[in-house]
Amino acid sequence: MSELLYEGKAKKMFSTDDPNVLRVEYKNDATAFNGKKKAVFQGKGRLNNAICTKIFHVLQENNLPTHFIDKISETEQLVKAVSIVPIEVVIRNVVAGSLAKRFGLDEGVSLGRTIIEFYYKSDELGDPMINDDHALALKIATEEDLAEIRRQALKVNDVLQSLFSEAGILLVDFKLEFGKLKSNGALVLADEISPDSCRLWDKETHEKLDKDVFRRNIADLPETYEKLLSRLEAVK
Ligand code: UDP
Repeated sequence: MSELLYEGKAKKMFSTDDPNVLRVEYKNDATAFNGKKKAVFQGKGRLNNAICTKIFHVLQENNLPTHFIDKISETEQLVKAVSIVPIEVVIRNVVAGSLAKRFGLDEGVSLGRTIIEFYYKSDELGDPMINDDHALALKIATEEDLAEIRRQALKVNDVLQSLFSEAGILLVDFKLEFGKLKSNGALVLADEISPDSCRLWDKETHEKLDKDVFRRNIADLPETYEKLLSRLEAVK
């Protein structure tokens, strides 16, 4: 028996016969600006599933705990059931997007140190930025959760900077979500890591290989994601 549990902007989640396992289906929909801009791209689900699978395999090889189990079809994965910590964790290595706007900085300037930002996951509120005190006072997460999230986020950043660097790509910034396994409560990386949730630039030309091509009408999204996938697949 398989029941649709949740439909998001880019994915559907289904139950499986095992209560600790869910099936994720990647959709062809693309959205930006909190759902205000929308389009459907043939092949997007397949591309994000393939890119995300490659990334989760590399994270697992580096002993990072994730919810990922296996890719089971062109557009589907099996993942471990988690309860999501309602924080979007943004990790930044280079100035771009909202950081550039907020501080009046030029996009593309390397940050001397990595910045981690927390946003409270709430579509109605537009994901407001929060700090540790908000997270603790509003009981969004515990001190232990926040420490573990920071530790894992920095390690993910190291592993992914190396992976993308080998593909000739700069990891500018990206968003992570964490969850607690239904089976034993352990904190693990969840959700997806894909060009929908990362900024990835060619190291030399700064050509964009992520969803900004759609947000800013720069290039064709499936062609861009295909280019990214083939560059990642060339990394052993
Ligand atoms: N991001 C995301 N989901 C969000 C907000 C941001 O995946 O709801 C990712 C985004 O793709 C980028 C990074 O987080 O890689 C930083 O995004 P930023 O805060 O600069 O916001 P944006 O400019 O995308 O609105």
